[in-house]
Amino acid sequence: MREMDPSKSHSLLEEAGLSHLQTAVLNDFAPPIVRTSELARLYGAVFRSTGEALTRLFLGNYARRMAPMLLKHPEVVKLSEQRPAIHPVQVRAWTARALPQLLNAIWATVELREDDAAFYLEVEQCPICVHMHGTTLPICHSSEYLYTAFARAISGQRLTLSEVACRAQGKPACSFRLEK
Ligand SMILES: [Zn+2]
Repeated sequence: MREMDPSKSHSLLEEAGLSHLQTAVLNDFAPPIVRTSELARLYGAVFRSTGEALTRLFLGNYARRMAPMLLKHPEVVKLSEQRPAIHPVQVRAWTARALPQLLNAIWATVELREDDAAFYLEVEQCPICVHMHGTTLPICHSSEYLYTAFARAISGQRLTLSEVACRAQGKPACSFRLEK
């Protein structure tokens, strides 16, 4: 981890109501255990202090750092091991159905919707943007990046999920589209 300006990290944590992590977060050897609801407050504080564009950048960098660790999750490994049993033309649809199962187990409640052209992963209580309001574009860039990484790991194909609607824009759910 690059060195952090302690006064900046302190004010972000304070703003998020997480001052108790102040000493823990600066110690790479004993990383703190943080609940999803606490993380959500931290993302909200980043948004309020840096705005929409920088928050999107922050979430992208954050996801790139998290991905290698999350892709080792036993549920991801298990699904990618099941894939050879799936007929190649079914892999995309199978992956679309596997993703909500995986995300429900490790992250948040996700529902699958589909129309003629695409599958949509819908997250009504998205922990990323629950404390962000009034964005012009979808902001859950970390989810976009990680859901895509999971889809590629599970399917072995270059699938891409794009966030097409976001709670932070005032939409009913964050919605991630996978072309059929
Ligand atoms: Zn969103």
